[in-house]
Amino acid sequence: MNFCVRCGKDCETTIDGLCTECFLDGRRIIRLPHHVDMEVCANCGEIRQRDSWVRKDIRIAAEDAAAASILAIPEARVISVGTRSVQQDPSNYAVTVDVIADISGFESSAEDITTVRVKNTVCKKCSRQLGSYYESILQLRTGGKDDMPAGLKKEVAYRVERTVGEQSRTNRQLFISKIGEVQGGVDIYLSSIALGRQISKEMGDYYGAETKESASLVGVNATGEEVYRVTYMVRIPEYHLGDAIEFEGRMYKLSSLSKTGGRATDLLTFRERTIRRSDLLSVRILVKYEDISDATVVSVGNGEIQVLDPRNYRTVDLRVPEGTEPGETVPVADIDGVLYYMP
Ligand SMILES: [Zn+2]
Ligand SMILES: [Zn+2]
Repeated sequence: MNFCVRCGKDCETTIDGLCTECFLDGRRIIRLPHHVDMEVCANCGEIRQRDSWVRKDIRIAAEDAAAASILAIPEARVISVGTRSVQQDPSNYAVTVDVIADISGFESSAEDITTVRVKNTVCKKCSRQLGSYYESILQLRTGGKDDMPAGLKKEVAYRVERTVGEQSRTNRQLFISKIGEVQGGVDIYLSSIALGRQISKEMGDYYGAETKESASLVGVNATGEEVYRVTYMVRIPEYHLGDAIEFEGRMYKLSSLSKTGGRATDLLTFRERTIRRSDLLSVRILVKYEDISDATVVSVGNGEIQVLDPRNYRTVDLRVPEGTEPGETVPVADIDGVLYYMP
């Protein structure tokens, strides 16, 4: 059996010769620093936690930052932590931290207060973006000499933005630095080479586009590695998915495209055929996909439907694939004055 050197009480364990009560008497078991600095990205609002940036409510983040800065005496084992805060002005939070700690089997509570100071800064991702950081350039161009139609410029930019948007949800390092319309197409600057490669492949497949890549050395980084920038040139052909085309004397709808060629559906027999990539160059575009219109369906038979001709509202019979169950409208193409159902 031990005894306390101050109060003389018998006790099983002593700390520095004192019973727990005497040990705790007048002693602060936790302490908070006078202030805690918390970095917030002024551009995206994310908050720094050690080496990473997280999106969270700023008040909760301030309370968490205060709780993370607790300094407890070595004899104390912290059991629970509570926080409450008062926002003093836009960049200062007074945070009170309550702690329950175990000291040699004796539960003791304590509280302290600190000021969490919000420091505006720019996170790594935003500083790269704001500085127009890029590792690859997608040069999206038409196949011919003509300028890319405004609608297609919008469409290609939208497709790239959509893919990057999806990717950036799981990887903050992936973003578009800059999109610029140029004579003949669109230039898109990307934060990563792998992203440029992936998108150029996707565009190649979707549009049946020819792609080329070229790398140039831009310097040496801090660790002595050579740094490259890669340009992906994507030549988007004149034909587009959904166009009505003429090929070897017959009319088709271009129904799919890939790097190796395309598939087309005959507008009279509705049979599908393959068109090799080299042969695609000789197709003639009859109606662009954006000029395909909708016609209201009047009646439905087998292998044939009646629609209102959108040009003059007369009823017209259209051949359709057998078993077609059209909705209220069907897509139609006007080819040399004759209306065709677009399968
Ligand atoms: Zn004592
Ligand atoms: Zn940021």
